Amino acid sequence: MTSSGNPAYKVRIEKAHFEAMVAHAQNGLPNETCGLIAGRVERGAGGEGVKVVEKVYFMTNIDASSEHFSMDPREQLSAIKDMRANGLALLGNFHSHPETPARPSAEDIRLAYDPSASYLILSLAGDGEDPVLRAFHIENGIASPEEVMEKGTATFTRGDL
Ligand SMILES: [Zn+2]
Repeated sequence: MTSSGNPAYKVRIEKAHFEAMVAHAQNGLPNETCGLIAGRVERGAGGEGVKVVEKVYFMTNIDASSEHFSMDPREQLSAIKDMRANGLALLGNFHSHPETPARPSAEDIRLAYDPSASYLILSLAGDGEDPVLRAFHIENGIASPEEVMEKGTATFTRGDL
């Protein structure tokens, strides 16, 4: 459950996808990196929607900034075409925070235009600790946490604000 009235999704992602995101984020330092996630939506045991990530698309951050990002529109278009060709649904997007925690910045919230998307944020700010991936639903200027579950484990990471 989220604190808002919006449907609570869980996001299920394979360790390999998570590790690829981390590698992409580390290769992109000092800048933020970004991309899209695609897959399908299943029903969980409690009737909740579970977004199952089947493919991760890595985009160029054309802002080349450590504090914000914009996805390359041509790469976005080719990703959407690839999703259509493979019968995958667009589930949301992700970006990295090189130096700040895994929660949406004021700008992230302001620029979030799609309430059906899951907004994933990968933080590398842990200073020697493991990177942290969290997911959020953002609607009407309010971010509420979604749960990220690693496929094959029972571990849920609950985003907190
Ligand atoms: Zn951000």
